[in-house]
Amino acid sequence: MSLSQRDRLGDASWVTQCALSRICGGCAQSLGRPVAFLGTPDEVARNAFHLPPMHVACAEDLRRTPDADPVWQITLTAGFEFVRPTRDDLDRRPTFQPNSLL
Ligand SMILES: [Zn+2]
Repeated sequence: MSLSQRDRLGDASWVTQCALSRICGGCAQSLGRPVAFLGTPDEVARNAFHLPPMHVACAEDLRRTPDADPVWQITLTAGFEFVRPTRDDLDRRPTFQPNSLL
């Protein structure tokens, strides 16, 4: 994965495009199943992720990069909801909520 791809992962418009088009946040190809999410233990515990959905291989590649967060875990799911923040949410970023964990 290139630097520009990695930078793009946190970009809100890219995250939304991945969600709506069901494409991988890493390689921009269509997603199949399972879908992988990379998240911190806190995101895993809440079942709410901020990075876009990815292929399993793309998520594993990203986790192996030198600047990956060492606490990242991979969660696999067959599907997910894209949840936009409401007016009252402190965290104004949309989240991905896996709905059929594998
Ligand atoms: Zn991919």
